[in-house]
Amino acid sequence: MQSIIDRFISYVTVDTQSDASSSTTPSTQKQWDLAHKLVAELKAIGMQDVSIDEHAYIMATLPSNVSHDVPTIGFVAHFDTSPDFSGTNVKPQIVQNYDGKDILLNAEQNIVLSPDYFEDLLLYKGQTLITTDGTTLLGADDKAGITEIVSAMEYLINHPEIKHGTIRVGFTPDEEIGRGAHKFDVEKFGAQWAYTMDGSQIGELEYENFNAAGAVITVKGRSVHPGYAKGKMVNSMRITSELINKLPSKEVPERTEGREGFFHLTDIQGSIEETRAQFIIRDHDREAFENRKELLKKIVNDLNQQYNGAVTLEIKDQYFNMREKVEPVFHIVEIAEQAMKSLGITPIIKPIRGGTDGSQLSFMGLPCPNIFAGGHNFHGKYEYVPVESMQKATEVIVKIAELTASKYKQ
Ligand SMILES: [Zn+2]
Repeated sequence: MQSIIDRFISYVTVDTQSDASSSTTPSTQKQWDLAHKLVAELKAIGMQDVSIDEHAYIMATLPSNVSHDVPTIGFVAHFDTSPDFSGTNVKPQIVQNYDGKDILLNAEQNIVLSPDYFEDLLLYKGQTLITTDGTTLLGADDKAGITEIVSAMEYLINHPEIKHGTIRVGFTPDEEIGRGAHKFDVEKFGAQWAYTMDGSQIGELEYENFNAAGAVITVKGRSVHPGYAKGKMVNSMRITSELINKLPSKEVPERTEGREGFFHLTDIQGSIEETRAQFIIRDHDREAFENRKELLKKIVNDLNQQYNGAVTLEIKDQYFNMREKVEPVFHIVEIAEQAMKSLGITPIIKPIRGGTDGSQLSFMGLPCPNIFAGGHNFHGKYEYVPVESMQKATEVIVKIAELTASKYKQ
């Protein structure tokens, strides 16, 4: 367990915050610091074909140690951290044998991690937690995933009696700004399927995410002196608010959960002359997703009849539910499930209310469910990870490798 702690701390103390406003890959120079370190470490533990490309995508191979054919499988994690919160000078604190009470993260600023707000903490009574010092995020998202993958590969190398096929490892920059999969060379990776180690609570196993689109609505108005406006003024803000009111009022993020989809107004800026409103559209069900886009088009058409073509609508698909790509190869989920159960972990299978790099990779030809990495409260100062969860995730990786090899034995 100490080696997992040491490895994790050696990663989170390197600042790798990504930056959406940058157009380079990786988006920040500092991500190279950890990338180079990971390359050296993968070589040091005995991984083969360790490569890093000009965009800092890292790949490595653990060769098969069996004579029969086993599909090549992969494990993927990202080394950047969220732009939402500082990742500079992370000072991890270790809480041994957690007693289920408040954890004082920072005495000076009186920052407390409390089970009163974060009841998940109570799942980990008696375990070893790693927390922040209250001034940064921790970076368990997703350096816990990287720790687990490297530790599992090291374990397999040191235990040749465990039989496995070829395993590929992929570490990416810029996941937190939605670009982790963009420059991922699926062909070079050469795996038949993979798992992102990027979920939260122990047991999480996800192969469904939203279908997602973004919509921009621009309404043109006509400004006239209000005293002389009758029959002349067209107030674009009022037309926009009419449009918003025609959308189903209960289908918004703050009123939906589980598999319920929504329209979400994310930004609106207006004057009488012109109003621009941005929406995101989300639904797990593909047909319902298409219907949502149609509904928006119909509302815009109706308003254009009424207001002389004042409204323009631009809809762009963003990503799709990976379920469509995972279902035809459902054994990849079953292997992960079986691996967890054989380790005494209860799989928690639920649809993701968002997207993952795995969903993009799935549509790029690499079916890629998501497995827990163990952390909680991502992207902020209350982030923490139980070491036992990282240990279990490491064991899940080893077990998946083993089960895949035995499943394909004649
Ligand atoms: Zn992540």
